[in-house]
Amino acid sequence: MFDEKDLILEAKHVTRRFPASGGRELTACNDVSLKFYRGKTLGLIGESGCGKSTFMRFLVRLDKPTEGEILFKGKDLTKLKGEELRQTRQYIQMVFQDPGSSFNAKMKIRDIICEPLLNFGRIKSSEKDAVARKYLEAVELPGDFADRFPHSMSGGQRQRIAIARAIALEPELIIMDEATCALDVSVQKTIIELVCKLQKEKNIAIGFIAHDLGLIQSFAHQIAVMYLGNIVEILPGEDVEKARHPYTQALLGAIFDTKMDFSKKIESIDSEIPSPLDVPPGCPFQPRCEYCTERCRREHPKLKTIGEGHEVACHLF
Ligand code: SF4
Repeated sequence: MFDEKDLILEAKHVTRRFPASGGRELTACNDVSLKFYRGKTLGLIGESGCGKSTFMRFLVRLDKPTEGEILFKGKDLTKLKGEELRQTRQYIQMVFQDPGSSFNAKMKIRDIICEPLLNFGRIKSSEKDAVARKYLEAVELPGDFADRFPHSMSGGQRQRIAIARAIALEPELIIMDEATCALDVSVQKTIIELVCKLQKEKNIAIGFIAHDLGLIQSFAHQIAVMYLGNIVEILPGEDVEKARHPYTQALLGAIFDTKMDFSKKIESIDSEIPSPLDVPPGCPFQPRCEYCTERCRREHPKLKTIGEGHEVACHLF
């Protein structure tokens, strides 16, 4: 589905275990393999606590997996150290859910945008004003916002500043962690449109974490569905209606009807998601799955290809 020559980052069999009380272990990511392609968006979706943010944090080296490798430009990110790690970081940027908390409130927007460029010696201090204006305009904000402080801006404007700061380093991959979920729906739409426009202009790969399948299907080229640390389905964004895994189908059924058709039943998944400390044997979705069989209770299903760019981890297929 994607051209392998555009592959820029590949995570292979990534697992992360955390020690927990009573000698137990919490497996936040279990054998996750995903690929990121130039100019394409991979949407990673799942309920809160499913491990999607934990996984994306490995890509910017805010954490390291217990097992597996993450190949970027031929190097395993999990093994990089010191100056080599610092230099590599500039090519993979992250935009967080709440940019307000990731900005220094005492810094002007000019300094917030230019700080990483100065850190990597890409610009001189005397160039800050022109550079900040250039990137403000790239994210469709007035150049004179450079003199403002973050607290004098709206949530949507702050998120644009976070995007300006991320693209200033000309990254090859941007990770967006629930980057629009704190915004009003109308503002969400304008931010997504901006991200898609910048992606086309700059040919950037994007990893977009979300819990809203309705939002992500509108722009992601590929969607990976995560459940209790496991990838249970990968499919093209345009084919989301063809999702086969019972969990993805439940997520699809839970999308609120935009036409406000209340005659359509809003589906929900019965019961709560189990604790990641208490993952059931066999298929992780088995306690909530209406199609569960004896095999599902004892055998962990592996991802199988069932169509072009479409893989599913379920014994039904
Ligand atoms: Fe349901 Fe079994 Fe498929 Fe798991 S493997 S999703 S329990 S049918």
